[in-house]
Amino acid sequence: MKKPVLVVISGPSGVGKTTIIKALLSRRDDVIFSVSCTTRPKRPGEVHGRDYFFITEEEFKSMVEREEFLEWAEVHGYLYGTPRRFIDKAMKEGKNVLLDIDVQGAMKVMETFKEGVFIFIAPPSVKALEERLRKRKTESEDKIRRRLEDAKWELGFIEKFQYLIINEELDRAIYELDSIITAEAKRVKRLLDEVERYKKEVLQGEGS
Ligand code: 5GP
Repeated sequence: MKKPVLVVISGPSGVGKTTIIKALLSRRDDVIFSVSCTTRPKRPGEVHGRDYFFITEEEFKSMVEREEFLEWAEVHGYLYGTPRRFIDKAMKEGKNVLLDIDVQGAMKVMETFKEGVFIFIAPPSVKALEERLRKRKTESEDKIRRRLEDAKWELGFIEKFQYLIINEELDRAIYELDSIITAEAKRVKRLLDEVERYKKEVLQGEGS
């Protein structure tokens, strides 16, 4: 079996992560998305179980106590966590899993999944980020301010990641993410079973 890839994507709020990830998932059926739990209120258009599992703070805390999260963090004033069970099951089945989590979460996953692929998506400028957040109209003014302050702090983590995508042009960013995953999935260390089978087939009959 191929060794699956765990792809972790981080980047400031409003950078376009969700749009890029949705486009990627629609063009690749070998990557599945890990749906997080959050205490943040649902935005219009979001669906429970598809975008997030929207749960109460009480529910979240009891999941923390039961150690059901691979990682969790407080982000922009709400709690967010990655359910451990889904990832374990998907990876056992050989599926590539993609996580969209904040930098604190990414740092924690780096400790447990050394083989993970860590990608930072950055805006072309903080000004561009501000414009995007305002255009999105999903957050109030004070929430936008907070997300912009957090963004400057998050940009300080870029060097901890293996890949950087600057979302200047959407199609280009999607192409770059797609290419990184393709390349990572083709690493010989993830294909050892296939390599063995390939060599057996190719070398069979050699010299006869
Ligand atoms: P939003 O509220 O805009 O959907 O997400 C806010 C931030 O929370 C984003 O940076 C997103 O990557 C992060 N986030 C989403 N799910 C998780 C999670 O399970 N764990 C952590 N640590 N961050 C998450």
